[in-house]
Amino acid sequence: MEFDYIIVGAGSAGCVLADCLGRNGRARILVIEAGGSDARFWIKVPVGYGFTFSDPRVNWRYSAEPDAGLNGRKGYWPRGRVIGGSGSINAMAWVRGLAHDFDDWESAGAAGWNWQTARAVYDRLESHSERGPDGKVRIRGTGPMRVSDLGAQMHPFSSHFLEAARELDWPLTDDMNGTTPEGLSRYRSTVRNGIRCSPADAFLRPALKRGNVKVLKHALVERLLIQDGHATGVQYRVGDQVMTAHASGEVIVSAGSVNSPQLLQLSGIGPSGLLRSHGIAVERGLEQVGKGLQDHLAITHHFAASEPTLNNRLGHWRGQLMAGLQYVLTRKGPLSVPVNQIGGFIRSDATCTAPDMQVFCNPVSHSTQPSGKPLMERDPGFILSVQPCRPASRGEIAIASGDPHDAPLIRPNSLSDAMDCAAAVRAGRLLRLLASAPTIRRVTRAPKGPDISTMNDAEMLENFRAYAATVFHPCGTCRMGRDASDSVLDARLRVHGVQRLRVVDASSFPNITSGNINAPTMMLAMRAADLILDDARSMAHNT
Ligand SMILES: Cc1cc2nc3c(=O)[nH]c(=O)nc-3n(C[C@H](O)[C@H](O)[C@H](O)COP(=O)(O)OP(=O)(O)OC[C@H]3O[C@@H](n4cnc5c(N)ncnc54)[C@H](O)[C@@H]3O)c2cc1C
Repeated sequence: MEFDYIIVGAGSAGCVLADCLGRNGRARILVIEAGGSDARFWIKVPVGYGFTFSDPRVNWRYSAEPDAGLNGRKGYWPRGRVIGGSGSINAMAWVRGLAHDFDDWESAGAAGWNWQTARAVYDRLESHSERGPDGKVRIRGTGPMRVSDLGAQMHPFSSHFLEAARELDWPLTDDMNGTTPEGLSRYRSTVRNGIRCSPADAFLRPALKRGNVKVLKHALVERLLIQDGHATGVQYRVGDQVMTAHASGEVIVSAGSVNSPQLLQLSGIGPSGLLRSHGIAVERGLEQVGKGLQDHLAITHHFAASEPTLNNRLGHWRGQLMAGLQYVLTRKGPLSVPVNQIGGFIRSDATCTAPDMQVFCNPVSHSTQPSGKPLMERDPGFILSVQPCRPASRGEIAIASGDPHDAPLIRPNSLSDAMDCAAAVRAGRLLRLLASAPTIRRVTRAPKGPDISTMNDAEMLENFRAYAATVFHPCGTCRMGRDASDSVLDARLRVHGVQRLRVVDASSFPNITSGNINAPTMMLAMRAADLILDDARSMAHNT
């Protein structure tokens, strides 16, 4: 078990790394994944998101600690535990983020990371499936990640959301990933020919064909092996068997924003006090490991509709049968489109220097079953949801014990920064404005749950505390920065003070980006591979 690179985690970042590091066909790469195969119907079918949302066979199903800012509620935190990671169970929205998000990475000490660099990497990462004015579908770009405009398959009700934006004088844009990201548009999705295009489909599968990449499934990495300040390999468990694997090059931790800091801490890299309190010998005291947790919270309101929505088709067995048949025969129809259909970046206030809210409008409503699984309602309904883009509050991830099988503690610390409370109120106001647009009023039978139309600012904040929930974008828990006082990684994603060890995943973000974070995570991993290969070349040159 001797490799050049060992990658912990076959998620969004890990799959990109496995492919990009192994393209020369020579580097021997081991990818170790705690979960199993992604060959599952509900992973492949775009609307299957609701089924994997709480399925323990593919999901870590974490629970956050009671969150004071959210009235002491404990948030449910799904994370992918399967080949493809969270990229195999996510809602498939592809959102690059806004230019200033990446310029802020550079300002935070991640030299070389800025919008110009990020944009160039996105261009290599993506290929776009778009419908031209003649109605024909064209592919633009040659990157492995397929990003599709599924407008033709979206529910007709979705057009009301765009009409409402026009009535409110909100900007409209053709594509929030294009040159004019501000405004409402159709979400672009990681779907290829009606099937989810996960990081595993786009990157890991092609990599495996080359023969120099090996994947271990159902293997939990319990700790990193560190010798004289160098990472030399990993200890992992498959069932009852504990084994080791060694890397002559580097160990790259891509276990995601919850598990990467957990693994570092279990391996003696983290806040010294925390490690000692759990009887873990300190290899490298690094106070910022697990700190700096950021996440997006969204406030969501459901409305009963006076016109048919997706509920009319998918909330009834007859409609489900028809949609299933259509999907099996043509790969089209309601099962081929994720539920996030319309949305985008909007300024909640004319004084904002950049869009500060992300909007989601879905032509469907659902309730949550006791198991946590969303259940599509039978009567027509729709959802409006608004998410402050750049929260300032910081939480943390901390091991609960020295046992790698114990879930770490997730402390989101939501709304602990006053700026986030103000943003929560603006999010509520924006949602109310959208709900009051003439077209939305016309298709609304009644609000379900609290009526936002009559709330004052204090009630709006209380409503956010009572109902806002994570939209599953934790990041920043092993972030890049200047030095060990403010971060875990340098700008080349190397762990401060430990040789041959990097963390490459959403935990490496210096700050959260304005939108969904799968695209930025994969972009980060693609550039990380460039940096790792550059460093290997320089080292070979110098020896
Ligand atoms: C329900 C849900 C919906 C989402 N919707 C969207 C969306 O629509 N658009 C978007 O842009 N983003 C979305 N996201 C977020 C996005 O998918 C994630 O941020 C992104 O996939 C994170 O990538 P990652 O590489 O950091 O971690 P992950 O993709 O989570 O990968 C980490 C991998 O490491 C494995 N692992 C962890 N610990 C160990 C260990 N000790 N040993 C071995 N393996 C280990 C895990 O099993 C996992 O496979 C969503 C996330 C979720 C959970």
